[in-house]
Amino acid sequence: MNNLIGHFINGQIEIDVHAQTHPIVNPSTGQESARLTFADAATLNKTVAIATQAGHAWGQSSHAARQAVVFKFRELLIQHTDALLELIGKEHGKNAPDAKGEIGRAIEGVEFACNAPHVTKGEFATNVGGGIDVYSQRVPIGVVGCITPFNFPVMVPVVMTTMAVAVGNAVILKPSEKVPSAEVMLAQLWKQAGLPDGVFNVLHGDKALVDHMLEHPGIAGINFVGSTAVGEYIYHKGTAHNKRVASFTGGKNHMVVMPDADLEAAATAFVSAGYGSASQRCMAVSLLLPVGQQTAEKLLALIVPKLQSLKVGPYSDAQVDFGPVVSAQSKVAVEQAIARCVDEGGQLVLDGRGLKVAGYENGFYLGPTLFDHVTTNMQLYKEEIFGPVRGIIRTSSLQEAIAITNANDYGNGAVLFTRDGKSAHSFSNQVEAGMIGINVPVPLPVGYFNFGGLRRSKFGDGHMFGPDAARFYTKIKTVSQRWPDADEAAAGLSLAFDS
Ligand code: NAD
Repeated sequence: MNNLIGHFINGQIEIDVHAQTHPIVNPSTGQESARLTFADAATLNKTVAIATQAGHAWGQSSHAARQAVVFKFRELLIQHTDALLELIGKEHGKNAPDAKGEIGRAIEGVEFACNAPHVTKGEFATNVGGGIDVYSQRVPIGVVGCITPFNFPVMVPVVMTTMAVAVGNAVILKPSEKVPSAEVMLAQLWKQAGLPDGVFNVLHGDKALVDHMLEHPGIAGINFVGSTAVGEYIYHKGTAHNKRVASFTGGKNHMVVMPDADLEAAATAFVSAGYGSASQRCMAVSLLLPVGQQTAEKLLALIVPKLQSLKVGPYSDAQVDFGPVVSAQSKVAVEQAIARCVDEGGQLVLDGRGLKVAGYENGFYLGPTLFDHVTTNMQLYKEEIFGPVRGIIRTSSLQEAIAITNANDYGNGAVLFTRDGKSAHSFSNQVEAGMIGINVPVPLPVGYFNFGGLRRSKFGDGHMFGPDAARFYTKIKTVSQRWPDADEAAAGLSLAFDS
């Protein structure tokens, strides 16, 4: 039997040999590499009890003690980058440069979490009336459940959980069942960094485990990253069970290119932001909106040869530009989306179906696919396609391009390429997206800014990365205190403060 991947509970790997298992498949080869054991409700109950106790003690420890562990965790991430790259490649399929970029952004999130004492410190006002001083403090919310997607096996869990730990909570992380191994390794690195057992736990499972987490009264908050349908469900079910919930969901990111833009730079940006990581990124550029027919023709002439020269292959090949999509089902879904766009009248410029990679015939490969003359009634405009299929919507003005961008259900990112300040100003003011790029193809903000989309790209008002992450993981207590002299009158019955 293949390797069994177990949970990480109370500082140890736990494998239940009788549990339900799920295959882990290497997308580059199509071969099963391990089997993942699933947690049931009893395992969750046990883990919540452990996390509650461990988290309470951790939350009482000093900021300095917690910071020391987070700093150490950062060092360990750097030291173990190669091992993490291999786990990401083997289970997700992304190549080493791409995975390295992901780990770099994860480390940035950890560095920001080292500021937890600063971003969670409270307010103080002296003598608000009657000699009373008032201060507010932010305290941990308790046990948090973190549910992660397959497409960033290190960055999303690290960014999502590190601030939770840094401000004094305990975590139960439920990784995507497609890419669990890197997340188990993260738990081991936390332990090595000195985090007390029981503060960071990993449980594996699918919808059944997520439902138990959403219903469990011992879990105070849920942070989710994944698809929109699932994120919306989790938001509603979690809040119905009185939990604080933030769901970061899908995207359909538009890239508008003005006639005055540096078209060579825009074409390069479209290819890298559109097709990098086999387009399996929530911030990938999905649709290109050239303004004006000439802009469209010139861009097409620049983009097509770039796409034709991309090399698709296994994560282990250093020459590869992008790897396979994550699963056989995902490959079928993307092929169906291509067929549907053809039926709906999209003009297929490049067709990536049927790609065979020598020596890796069972891998889940798709070449770069591009449609021109996409319109807003097509699936390719309306839905997120998580694979290397991108579309061009031709527009005649910036206002038309902004209207198309805003009419889409999603509002994760949106990008404009131009040399004109006025156009940039109109775009950033009028577009309803959480992250906007001006001549920046993937406007994923640096770790000390908040990250999160608008419209159906996010549910709840939490953010990741920046200071809002610390706010999500803490609750406020406000203390009014008075230290009267022995001979001073006691407080009266009125609610008003004495002057
Ligand atoms: P997914 O929604 O299928 O799975 C995400 C998590 O939810 C996994 O842990 C999975 O086990 C669990 N899950 C799946 N179905 C469930 C159900 N019915 N009920 C409860 N839990 C369920 O997403 P994915 O395919 O792993 O990831 C890709 C998606 O994530 C894309 O839509 C992408 O845009 C999105 N994403 C968003 C962001 C962001 O910050 N907005 C970042 C990364 C990925």
